[in-house]
Amino acid sequence: MNQPSQYISAFSRFIVLACIAVFIGWLFDQILLVFVILLAGLFAWYSYNLIRLNDWLWSKKNLYPPSSNGIWSEVFDGIYRLQKKNRSRRKELGQVLKRFRDGAEALPDAAVVVQSNGQILWCNKLARHVFGLRWPEDTGLLITNLLRHPNFIEQFHQQKQHPDMAEEPVLMPSPIDRESTIEIRMVPYALGQLLILGRDVTQMQRLNQMRKDFIANVSHELRTPLTVLQGYLEMMQDPEMGGALPSTRAVGMMSDQCDRMFNLVNQLLVLSRIEANRDNVYEHIVDVPAMLMLLEKEAEQLNLDRQHTITFNVDQNLLIHGLEDELRSAFTNLVKNAIRYTPNGGEIHVCWCKQDNQAKFSVKDNGDGIEVQHLSRLTERFYRVDKARSRSTGGSGLGLSIVKHVLAHHKSQLEIESEVGLGSCFSFEFPLDLIAHRRKRKA
Ligand code: ADP
Repeated sequence: MNQPSQYISAFSRFIVLACIAVFIGWLFDQILLVFVILLAGLFAWYSYNLIRLNDWLWSKKNLYPPSSNGIWSEVFDGIYRLQKKNRSRRKELGQVLKRFRDGAEALPDAAVVVQSNGQILWCNKLARHVFGLRWPEDTGLLITNLLRHPNFIEQFHQQKQHPDMAEEPVLMPSPIDRESTIEIRMVPYALGQLLILGRDVTQMQRLNQMRKDFIANVSHELRTPLTVLQGYLEMMQDPEMGGALPSTRAVGMMSDQCDRMFNLVNQLLVLSRIEANRDNVYEHIVDVPAMLMLLEKEAEQLNLDRQHTITFNVDQNLLIHGLEDELRSAFTNLVKNAIRYTPNGGEIHVCWCKQDNQAKFSVKDNGDGIEVQHLSRLTERFYRVDKARSRSTGGSGLGLSIVKHVLAHHKSQLEIESEVGLGSCFSFEFPLDLIAHRRKRKA
């Protein structure tokens, strides 16, 4: 019913009742008394409905309003309709909140919502892992009491002072793992609140550091031979030399430095090719015994002035799935290293055989051996135990790094055993599924 008609109906009912009361009062000559009785009745009826309304509003069981008539029926229905509207709005809001929380949980970052004074209001699951927060136990605690790193505190206060400015992200060590680094961003949020986002950037930092080290190392490696060449060229340009040709020794030195640069650039190219290679190792079969036969000949050449005793023990039927160029590079590096780093007249034993259902390659020498603190770092780019010795033997410091990458492509890894004074053994094993078989020729 619309409102004017409600009022007209209620009013007309009152007029009718009043007319009846006036008539009865006129009949008994007691108009005032009858009128008072009518008003008392009306008051009782309104009080009764008010009490029912109050009972209904406070009752937890009764969802539906009590039935009544007249204006009270409209009041009950109106309140019921409002309640229904509120309920559905609350449901909608609940769903929006749930969607927000689901979205925040799905964020790849740790997220914490705090009040402007730092009191924690809410955090997602990742925040519990990244910041070590406990939820809901830490609700209401000050974030600055839980994350106490000076970088964080400073950023928090700066954000408080300039809430409209988006601050630069800051880095701080993880409160859970000191080795990890977390990048923190603070974003102004609704009603003076702050959204704190954190992500683990340890890997990114490491890669960045590796990139910087790599550039520094390559520059350093190229700089030394270039300085030598530049020195000789300047000498040749010197008017005091009178245009004399450089000595044979000087030409020899220049040629060595050029070889060194050439070798370095070649190794860098090999490394980048291996890193970029996505070929499927299972699509090719490598005849390792044939490859080792060629390598044996190469080793004999290298060994001419070293006088080592080199033995090759090769299982002629052991082939593997893999990438030939990469594997050649790995096998050659280990054999050449053994020849280069073993003092003259040493013993080197190369073995390619099946062991425990795996194909194993090993190069054992009886050289000086390597101190234990170097072992885990040998496969790092440009890492050398004895820099001067490596350079003098033409080493670039990239050989074992190349081996490591090749082996990673072939589901394997480099094992290094070494004892100072006794020698070293570099080996790796390929799993059974990489082992291929030589096809038997038809009779
Ligand atoms: P390089 O080009 O300098 O040989 P590698 O990555 O091949 O670089 O080797 C890294 C370092 O490991 C070498 O500089 C050397 O000090 C050490 N090394 C490698 N193989 C041997 C070995 N068989 N015996 C002793 N030291 C070795």
